[in-house]
Amino acid sequence: MSLIITDECINCDVCEPVCPNNAIFQGVSIYEIRHENCTECVGHFKEAQCVAVCPVNCIIKDVSHPETEEALMEKFNQLTGCKVDYDAESASNPPLLLLPD
Ligand code: SF4
Ligand code: SF4
Repeated sequence: MSLIITDECINCDVCEPVCPNNAIFQGVSIYEIRHENCTECVGHFKEAQCVAVCPVNCIIKDVSHPETEEALMEKFNQLTGCKVDYDAESASNPPLLLLPD
């Protein structure tokens, strides 16, 4: 599923530039995540980059947008133009920084 930013966000700006999918943007009062662009960083990195840098741990799973790892990989393919087959065996260790052919 995609992630969501809670109202504990302090607008420190560090998450927006690290998102590989341009999913993070400045909202009306705090930063927000476009759920249609968030893959939990699947396909790009081993862990969610925004979560890794957030100093106040205010980025959490968005339970209103449930998605499987397979669906996240398909979203990655659609966003990037890649054609990576989902591999359940390596789901916890997805390919890194894949670029379109
Ligand atoms: S989890 Fe990854 S893709 Fe989703 S908003 Fe955070 S940095 Fe962007
Ligand atoms: S890193 Fe965390 S606190 Fe900083 S802008 Fe992003 S969500 Fe808000």
